[in-house]
Amino acid sequence: MSNIKRRDFLKLTCAAAAIGAVGFPGFAIGGAGKKVVIVGGGIGGATAAKYIRMADSSIEVTLIEAGRDYHTCFMSNEVLHGRRAMESIRFGYEGLAAHGVNVVHDWVTGIDAKSRKVITAGGKNFAFDRCIVSPGIDFKWETIAGYNADVAETIPHAWKAGPQTALLRKQLESMRDGGTVVIAPPPNPFRCPPGPYERVSLIADYLKNHKPKSKIIVLDPKDKFSKFGLFTAAWKKYYGYGTDNSMIDWISGPQGGKVESVDAATRTAQATVESFKADVLNIIPAQKAGKIAFDAGLVDESGWCPVDHQTFESKQLPNVHVIGDASIASPMPKSGYAANSQAKVCAAAVVALLNEREAPQPSYVNTCYSIVAPGDGISVAMVYKYAEGGIQKVDGSGGLTAADSSMETRAREEAYAHSWFNNITYDVFG
Ligand SMILES: Cc1cc2nc3c(=O)[nH]c(=O)nc-3n(C[C@H](O)[C@H](O)[C@H](O)COP(=O)(O)OP(=O)(O)OC[C@H]3O[C@@H](n4cnc5c(N)ncnc54)[C@H](O)[C@@H]3O)c2cc1C
Repeated sequence: MSNIKRRDFLKLTCAAAAIGAVGFPGFAIGGAGKKVVIVGGGIGGATAAKYIRMADSSIEVTLIEAGRDYHTCFMSNEVLHGRRAMESIRFGYEGLAAHGVNVVHDWVTGIDAKSRKVITAGGKNFAFDRCIVSPGIDFKWETIAGYNADVAETIPHAWKAGPQTALLRKQLESMRDGGTVVIAPPPNPFRCPPGPYERVSLIADYLKNHKPKSKIIVLDPKDKFSKFGLFTAAWKKYYGYGTDNSMIDWISGPQGGKVESVDAATRTAQATVESFKADVLNIIPAQKAGKIAFDAGLVDESGWCPVDHQTFESKQLPNVHVIGDASIASPMPKSGYAANSQAKVCAAAVVALLNEREAPQPSYVNTCYSIVAPGDGISVAMVYKYAEGGIQKVDGSGGLTAADSSMETRAREEAYAHSWFNNITYDVFG
């Protein structure tokens, strides 16, 4: 599918409900000779690269991505469970190259907005008319004493997929029956709000079937989390949550769940009140925008990047746009679907601006699926509009899986989750 034509582009855009399509700037071929450089070839960056090329093939698009392959975080919890192969979440960049994107594998060390250049560790400079930055997240290592990037080589966070996912899966497989898995979700705001709790659910299902004497202790700094009622109801149904025999203990912030320090040698997490010795320890630290956003001066005091919501242009650096997890796009969550939707809005704006037109009126979409047990899925969905200078929820447009939904509906939600994965990965990398 290297030469998707405009009709297909429209179809794709609508199919993904990518909504930025409303008023997409007429697909004029007028940006001739204009250069866009994209930093980060994850979900946001790869989508923006592809959609700019499809909208105006006269624009030169260079995508600079550190990795040769990209592993999606979505469905990585299924890899931890063992029901999905690692290879199925790996994607290469051949599809983007076939769209005419110049894919460069290098690490970006600087963005000079004044001279409009992106600088790489490999010693190259890339000139741009507009730059789009989608570097994802980094961790606030300083928030948990004893936990840092080196320790994460043995005590995984698995919050960036790939080798970290493989390491955590290996540790779960090697654990004895009767072992304790300690999972420490991060404080808000963080990438994929329901993700830690889907992880708890799928690891619980793996243990239930393979190591039934084992336990999961969730040490959470928060007192509530995304889809709280649906997750805890599923934990009761499948894993005995709330009974003496529960496979899962969730310890909230007010109950002393915040992890203060980690002793890597003994795999012990010291929480506010008690310490917990684990056989498998999964620490997911607090998060901030990816490093380059700091180095380039794109973040504010929150550690995330303020942007204009119509174009995703930085409020701090002209001609530089920030999308995906690194951007401040509340009330949208930090999710892959949100990054994909924002990328399309940003691509439409960049194409318009390079063609000396006004950026179109955007709208945005997000759905987050979670699988709570094989055959049982739940979701939260929302459509957003641009109004009063910001992103706003469209009343009545979304919602949560109903608490009393039938098992047929829940099985369908799981099927939707899998078909969403196939669709979005094709939309981004295909
Ligand atoms: C366990 C888990 C489950 C999830 N499940 C879902 C889900 O079901 N649905 C959903 O919508 N979302 C889900 N997410 C969230 C989703 O993965 C992220 O929100 C999404 O990847 C954000 O896209 P992004 O483009 O901002 O960042 P990323 O996809 O992380 O891409 C950033 C890219 O930038 C590159 N990069 C960074 N800095 C540089 C640099 N200086 N030079 C060169 N390259 C650089 C990185 O190598 C990376 O490839 C999940 C996340 C996790 C952890």
